[in-house]
Amino acid sequence: AKHPKPMVCIDDVTMAFGDFVATENVNITVADGEFVSVVGPTGCGKSTILNAVAGLLKPAKGSVTIDGQPVSGIQGDIGYLFQQEALLPWKTAFENVELGLKFRSDISKAERAEKVDAWLAKVGLAGFGKRYPHQLSGGQRKRVQMAQALITEPKVILMDEPFSALDIHTRHLMQNELLRLWQEDRRAVIMITHDLDEAIALGDRVVVLASGPRSSVVESFPVDLERPRDVAEIKLDQRF
Ligand code: ADP
Ligand code: MG
Repeated sequence: AKHPKPMVCIDDVTMAFGDFVATENVNITVADGEFVSVVGPTGCGKSTILNAVAGLLKPAKGSVTIDGQPVSGIQGDIGYLFQQEALLPWKTAFENVELGLKFRSDISKAERAEKVDAWLAKVGLAGFGKRYPHQLSGGQRKRVQMAQALITEPKVILMDEPFSALDIHTRHLMQNELLRLWQEDRRAVIMITHDLDEAIALGDRVVVLASGPRSSVVESFPVDLERPRDVAEIKLDQRF
C-alpha cells in the first residue's frame, strides 16, 4: 500500500452553530503523506470541517484524531493556511513567518532567523523579509502565509482555498511550487478548494462534499498517482 498509516481521521463529524447543522456525519481519512483535495460549493462547510481538524471548533458529534491523538488546538503538529488573510499588518514578512514557530521554545534566536530566511527562500521570497504585508502582492502575501504554515514541518498541512484569490498565472505558478515543496517532503495535506480542476490537478484523492446545510461526503475518488504533476502542463493539454 502506498499510504499505510492514517494520519487524520475525521470520524462521523457533525458540525453545528446553534440549531444550524452545517455538516452531518462527515467521514474523511487522510493517510500519512497523502494529499487530499476537498471540494464543494460555497457554504457547504469546508472551512468549518478544517477548523474542526485544527481543533478550533468542536464537533457536535463525532471525533477528529491526528496520528491517533484527539486534536487539541493548533500546535506544531498542524500547519494551517487560512482562507482569509491572516498576516499581521504591523509585522514584516520575516516576523509573520517567524510567528509560525511560536510553539517552538526549544530553538535559539539565531536558529529561528536561519529557518525563517530558509523558508522565505523556499517560497520564492528571498530578500523580501523586511517588507510589510501592504508592500507585497496578493500572491506574495499567500507565499508568506504558506511559509508560516510550513515552517514547523508539521505532520498535517491544512490549506483553505490557498489560491482562490489569485490571478490565473500566479495561481498556476504557486500550485506548481506547492507540489514541488510537497514532493520534497511528503506530509498529510488537506487542501480545500471550490475548483474541481484544481482538486484533481493537485490531489492524490478528491473528496466531494454536497451543498449545505447538513452537508456530507458524496464522493471520494483517487487520482492517477503516476501522472505528471505540473499544473500548467495539464491545463494546456486539456485546453488546446
Ligand atoms: P465553506 O467554507 O464551504 O464555504 P463554511 O464552512 O465557511 O463554508 O460555512 C458553512 C456554513 O456554516 C455556512 O452556511 C455558514 O454561513 C455557516 N457558518 C460558518 N461559520 C459560522 C459561525 N461562526 N456561526 C454561524 N454560522 C456559521
Ligand atoms: Mg470556506
